[in-house]
Amino acid sequence: MKKHNYSAGPCILPQEVFEEASKAILNFNDSGLSILEISHRSKDFVAVMDEARALVLELMNLEGKGYQALFLQGGASLEFLMVPYNLMKVEGKAAYLDTGTWASGAIKEAKAFGETVVVASSKDSNYNYIPKEYTIPSDASYFHCTSNNTIFGTQMKSFPTTDIPLVCDMSSDIFSRDIDFSKFDLIYAGAQKNMGPAGTTLVVVKEEILGKSGRTIPNILNYEQHITKESMYNTPPVFAVYTSLLTLRWLKKLGGIAAIEKINESKANLLYSEIDRNPLFKGTVAKEDRSIMNATFLLENEAHQELFDSMWKKAGISGINGHRSVGGYRASMYNALPLESVKVLVDVMKELEKNI
Ligand code: PMP
Repeated sequence: MKKHNYSAGPCILPQEVFEEASKAILNFNDSGLSILEISHRSKDFVAVMDEARALVLELMNLEGKGYQALFLQGGASLEFLMVPYNLMKVEGKAAYLDTGTWASGAIKEAKAFGETVVVASSKDSNYNYIPKEYTIPSDASYFHCTSNNTIFGTQMKSFPTTDIPLVCDMSSDIFSRDIDFSKFDLIYAGAQKNMGPAGTTLVVVKEEILGKSGRTIPNILNYEQHITKESMYNTPPVFAVYTSLLTLRWLKKLGGIAAIEKINESKANLLYSEIDRNPLFKGTVAKEDRSIMNATFLLENEAHQELFDSMWKKAGISGINGHRSVGGYRASMYNALPLESVKVLVDVMKELEKNI
């Protein structure tokens, strides 16, 4: 039986994507060859890469606006380093908002390149809110933020307006809500949440911000090189890119980002309403900053843990244990998680209340 998969990433993908991806492993495009055994330079794979890059821009409404979409490797973690390498001016500085483990990972890498100003941080309260009052230095090369904090369950509901390039790590909420992506100059995201399997990282960059840092950048870390080589500077992760394309096609067929946002909101509303209603549970973050992707919550009384854990496991739920830095539970409700799965979890929470 298929589990209700709340894993934080890698995570659930649409069932039809799993099926189509499996078919391509055996016989890709009726070619008599597996997608795993063809050249990345073959006509069929180049078409996959081209369509995936174009579909990203189409879904984000960024076509014809000076952006390029790249499928790279090294995870979002390598982008922590590529961003300052490509954008922080020699002798310049960069500004960062510290909203959690991943944001502080990005800050650590930036420090190796130059002055790194942390404009605000919610570390003092274990990252349970998004700081809102801060000033971005106008002489910084860029401002970096993390739209959704996968571990702590907070999400930025609005983004600052600034004259300097705006860079955002959208690893855990990309393609989940309709925002004006043209406000951003560089967006990156590991594929393994809303887009596909682990193994590729999406970078969407406005070309005009590149080539201005004054640094000598190794080719493999240079966004301009990847653009020139049409995201094939070296052998791309073909299967991860293909499976991402299948997920992007699924999203387009569903009606795009605006359509999935409505579904994501119903899922999040259903779960957060139960967390707030049920006296046995409490949320861990400021209500106005709650993530619609990762809901973090605790049992009021830890003595109920054993019973609750046995109940959700019996209901076919998987992957809701909280991250060790928050404890409790984390229900990740990425795009492919059906509303049905949230109903099952909410029913288990109600059942627990009846049993106590
Ligand atoms: N940023 C965010 C917001 C994440 O959630 C993660 C991973 N969960 C990362 C960065 C690191 O991504 P990767 O493992 O692809 O390097």
